[in-house]
Amino acid sequence: MNDLFGNIIDRAIERLRAFEPEEGYYLAYSGGKDSDVILDLTRRSGVKFDAHHSLTTCDPPELVRHVKTQPDVEIQRPKMTMWELIRHKKMMPCRTTRFCCNYQKETGGNGRVVMTGVRWQESNRRAQRKMVEQCYRNKTKRYLHPIIDWSESDVWTYIRTRKIKYCSLYDEGFKRLGCVLCPMNSNTQQHMERWPRLCRAWERACKAVYNQSGGKIANRNFESAEEYWQWWLSRDGKYGQNEMPLFFRD
Ligand code: SF4
Repeated sequence: MNDLFGNIIDRAIERLRAFEPEEGYYLAYSGGKDSDVILDLTRRSGVKFDAHHSLTTCDPPELVRHVKTQPDVEIQRPKMTMWELIRHKKMMPCRTTRFCCNYQKETGGNGRVVMTGVRWQESNRRAQRKMVEQCYRNKTKRYLHPIIDWSESDVWTYIRTRKIKYCSLYDEGFKRLGCVLCPMNSNTQQHMERWPRLCRAWERACKAVYNQSGGKIANRNFESAEEYWQWWLSRDGKYGQNEMPLFFRD
């Protein structure tokens, strides 16, 4: 390990120690490579923490298997399955109406300092984040992202150097892990081939919403359940002008 790389590890561990809250961190563990690094750094740093993984019910089975190998990560189930949530909201989540993360993934850590593996390099949106920040939706929650300035290559170097186990999907060419058919992911074909059963569950939920609504969904009209499904798969669409309030509605 060269000095430069040693420095960024030391810096991340210093950050963990410097911001340690009395009650310890709430570590949000996704099962992805970045959270594997965070989990290892946190164990090494000696700070107090409890680690949690939120199941969404449309997680790749390989990811869930990997999460289950972590003895100190508590697995939490959502109040509603993704399919129940879609029926409850009467619409499919989409890129601009991503209500499911709120319900399925971001419910924990209230009143706590939540530690994550967010990195600037991951996306333009994440490049705007700060290392320590307040949750904009819940004022009792703060975030610490100790490896925010790491590159992807830093993450892999750390994983290889420390011989950390990671989810097998990376070795199959998956670059980022998340829910099967997540609306933020445009690689729908790859997901349909890899996880046909879960993709059929999305399709059933989509067509059930269409039938439930009579074709008018969040200010848009769809001619058929199939049209709604294909529109959702295309990842191009927005529901309409007034879709955003639905994001916050129960
Ligand atoms: S499908 Fe995507 S947006 Fe929805 S909970 Fe999963 S990761 Fe979040």
